[in-house]
Amino acid sequence: MTPDPKNSKIENPRVRFAPSPTGLLHVGSARTALFNFLFARHYGGDFILRIEDTDKERSKKEYEENIIEGLRWLHLNWDEGPDILGKFGPYRQSERKEIYKQYLKKLLAENRAYYCFCTEDDLKAQREEMIASGTAPRYSGHCADLPEELVQQYLKENRPYTIRFRMPSGIISFKDLIRGTIKTDLSLIGDIIIAKSWDEPLYNFSVVVDDYLMGITHIIRGEDHISNTPKQIALIEALGFSLPAYAHLPLILNEDRTKLSKRDNLTVSISDYQKQGYLWEAIDNFLALLGWHSSSNEEIFSLDRLIKEFSIERIQKGGAVFLPNKLNWLNKTYINKKDPSELTKEVFNYACAFGFLQKKEGSNNFVFLKNQKLYSEEQLIKYFQIEKSRVNTLAEFFDDNSFLFRDLRYDPALLFWKQQSKEDVKIVLDECYKILYNINETQFSQEMIKAVFDVLIKNNTQYNQDKGWVLWPLRVALSGLQYSPSPFEILEVLGKEESLRRIKLAREVISGLSEVKKSL
Ligand code: GLU
Repeated sequence: MTPDPKNSKIENPRVRFAPSPTGLLHVGSARTALFNFLFARHYGGDFILRIEDTDKERSKKEYEENIIEGLRWLHLNWDEGPDILGKFGPYRQSERKEIYKQYLKKLLAENRAYYCFCTEDDLKAQREEMIASGTAPRYSGHCADLPEELVQQYLKENRPYTIRFRMPSGIISFKDLIRGTIKTDLSLIGDIIIAKSWDEPLYNFSVVVDDYLMGITHIIRGEDHISNTPKQIALIEALGFSLPAYAHLPLILNEDRTKLSKRDNLTVSISDYQKQGYLWEAIDNFLALLGWHSSSNEEIFSLDRLIKEFSIERIQKGGAVFLPNKLNWLNKTYINKKDPSELTKEVFNYACAFGFLQKKEGSNNFVFLKNQKLYSEEQLIKYFQIEKSRVNTLAEFFDDNSFLFRDLRYDPALLFWKQQSKEDVKIVLDECYKILYNINETQFSQEMIKAVFDVLIKNNTQYNQDKGWVLWPLRVALSGLQYSPSPFEILEVLGKEESLRRIKLAREVISGLSEVKKSL
């Protein structure tokens, strides 16, 4: 029975995030990393990053880099890891093979492990036999007691082998910090393979050795590892190691309550969210709420506040549903509450990193790469501030709903306000053109333009009764959009020349219409 960690004080904990670099950093793994990070920081302990790259075929350097970059982007800084050597390194399993060998030797010497020479075909036949006889399939124990001479002979013959752990029988029980007591009958598990050869230790074994040698006190990981825990505890006991505490985080589910799969890399990798223009603060906040909630049920948490308020008692057992709309809402909230100059910096960095904008050398201008047009820094800064309440993600600043960047084309029907006729819209646009033409370029500010329009509206009964009569066609002429910021805001961002060009264009579209609005 493991000690009851709920009743013991948590002091100087050491926790780890131990990803296998076999894919991009997935939201599920990032959530595990975040919870470990929060636990370590809340209790003033250490957070360790360990790369579990023993699976030679599936582990890739580029995935390791993606994981490391993703964690850095999420601000989940670790105290020890492959790049920050602490006294328990190396922190990459492929560099720890000599260490594992010592413990394999120990288990073999103490007869807690043995060589197994069963081939794939042998194992298949054994499995089928067990199923036929109604027993749950597990290793038959065929090689468990081979005479020593035979083992040596097979090894000399270079027969392929694995190393199996002699699984004790009996019930293993552990107290999960989230799920309570979990009991498993070890005799149902059978003797597991702990190494495919001397050079290829397998997960359940290497993880136990590393967690012990690295002084890990709490193992916080996904619920999909619950079935590994009894095997690992049996190994820990066989090796005479001390037991850590365990906490298994709830599964992350899609809205239809199916499991959010690691294989859906394209849609659920952290780097994808970064590319789509989500802010790291929003992602951290969102991930924290996948299984944890505060006592107040509030939803907005900075990383600092999460560190302060995090507690393992508030992690739920049941599956955590991943709601993309909630992530959008959080992202929008963070975009809007960001300090304006910080947001500007962030959008410029993002846009240049992901191929939306390119700074023109030696000037304060940027090229919008999609249409190769130039925009001034000043103009872009104003645009970001005006548009920020509309967007869910940073990418949306640059999409087709952007009044600034989109190719201007009109759905002519949109230019009409209520019962306006073609003639009415023409008159309005002509009037707007004239007024704007007469404002000096240096005075083309929102306030100035608004003041001029206030006078126009006041002096015109029609406009005075219904401002939409003039402001709607003007706004659509400027943006081409059904929904957009106010015409005064757009005018200031576009500047005099571009604004007049757009009004003229809309005016031409209206003139070219052979029939009136009703027939559109
Ligand atoms: N390398 C394992 C994984 O990526 C880590 C499991 C653990 O935390 O023990 O799933």
